[in-house]
Formats: sequence, C-alpha cells, structure tokens
Amino acid sequence: MRCLEFQQQINDFLDDRLTIAQTGVFVEHADTCQECMEELELRYMIRVGILEQDRDDRDMNYDYSQRLKRILERCRKQIRIRYIFRILKYSLSTLTFWASVALILIQLRIWLAG
Ligand SMILES: [Zn+2]
Repeated sequence: MRCLEFQQQINDFLDDRLTIAQTGVFVEHADTCQECMEELELRYMIRVGILEQDRDDRDMNYDYSQRLKRILERCRKQIRIRYIFRILKYSLSTLTFWASVALILIQLRIWLAG
C-alpha cells in the first residue's frame, strides 16, 4: 500500500467502513510507516477531540495515542482470528474431501469382494 492510498483510507478506517482485508493492509502499513502512523494519530485526535469536546468526564482517557493503539490492536486481533478460522475451514474441507474418497474406496472394495 502506498502512503497516499493509506491517507485516503483514514476516514473510512475511523468510520469502520473498511473490509477486514482492507483493514489488514491498512494496519500493516500503519505499523511500518512512521509518517502515516503520525498522520493517523493526528486525524484520530482531531476527530475524537471534536466529538468529545462538550463532554465533561473526569474519567475520560485523553491519551488519544494510547486509545488509537488499542483500536489498532483490536483490529490485529480480529484479523488473526479470521486467519485462524480460514485455516480451520480449509483444513476441515480438505479432511471432508479425503474422508469421502476413503469412504468411496471402502464401499468399492465391499462391492468388488461381494
Ligand atoms: Zn506511509
């Protein structure tokens, strides 16, 4: 992913409008490109700051950088879970296929023997 593309997707990311695959590429770029990470932090801070400016909550976490890191961590976790599920699904369908082949062979042997 290029930096320009990343920066065009920042709003979609913050609005939760990216697909999981797009989010994966997006987060990966944020992890490896300091410049884009800073841009993301800035845009997140501005956006959340505007949304929360009227709230007077003493317990509110004003460490936007930390909050953004938590969001990114949640995304990474979702991507990992999805990856594991994909592997499980693939393994299961492979297993089902070979179990079916084995069953057919056993059935053929039974027919031929009888
Ligand atoms: Zn970049």
